[in-house]
Amino acid sequence: MRIILFGSPGVGKGTQAKILSSKFNILHISTGDILRKAVKDQTPLGIKAQSILNRGELISDDIMISLIKDTLQQPLCENGFILDGFPRSTAQAIALDAMLKELNIQDIHLLVITADEEELVKRLTERRACKNCGSLFNYNDIKDKTSCPVCNAENSFYQRDDDSENVIRHRMEIYKQTTRPVLDYYEGKKKVIYINGSDKIENVTENILSKLELDK
Ligand code: AMP
Repeated sequence: MRIILFGSPGVGKGTQAKILSSKFNILHISTGDILRKAVKDQTPLGIKAQSILNRGELISDDIMISLIKDTLQQPLCENGFILDGFPRSTAQAIALDAMLKELNIQDIHLLVITADEEELVKRLTERRACKNCGSLFNYNDIKDKTSCPVCNAENSFYQRDDDSENVIRHRMEIYKQTTRPVLDYYEGKKKVIYINGSDKIENVTENILSKLELDK
C-alpha cells in the first residue's frame, strides 16, 4: 500500500497517517517530523530549517526533493509508505512523479483530507505536542495535564512555535497559494479521493479505509 496524504495544516494528516501506517505496516514519512527532529538534533539541515519552520514557511524544494528521494530508496519503503506533508508544491509533485516512475511504482492512492479553515485555526491553536514522544493532543482533551497519556513523560506538553495564531494564519495562506494548486496538477492525471476531516478521528479512518477498498 502506498499513499499520499494531502491537506491543509491541522486537518489530521499526522493522526491518520500514524493509524494507517500501523494498520498496513507501512512506513510513515512525515516531512514535518523529519525536519523537527533535525532541528532538535541541530544537524546542518536542522540549523538551516529552524527559523523557516518557526515562521511557518516552506523549506526549499531542492532540499525537500532530495530528502524524499533518499527516503524512498530505503529498503524500509519496500513494503509501502505513506507520505504526510509531501508534496507541498507543484515542483515537488513533478519531482515525486519522476521518482515514482524511476522506482517503477504506479499504484499510489492520493487522499485529500478537507475541513473548514476556521475550525482548523481553532484546532491548531488548541494543539499541544509532547516533547518526549511527539504525540499531538487537543489541550482541552488532556485529562491529566502533567503527564503524557502515550509515553507517560512528566510535564512534557508544549505549543509548537508554528502553532501560534499568526503563524497558523500564515501557514494557511501558504497552503492556499503554493500547496493547494498541487491538486490542479493532479486533477485529470490521478484519481483524487476526498475525505471529510471534520468528523471524529475514528470516523475519518473508517471513511479512508472504505474509500481505499473501492480504489483497489
Ligand atoms: P508539518 O508538520 O507537515 O505541518 O510541517 C511543519 C513544517 O515543516 C512546515 O510548516 C514547513 O516549514 C516544513 N515542511 C514540511 N514538509 C515540507 C515540504 N514538503 N516542503 C517544504 N517545507 C516543508
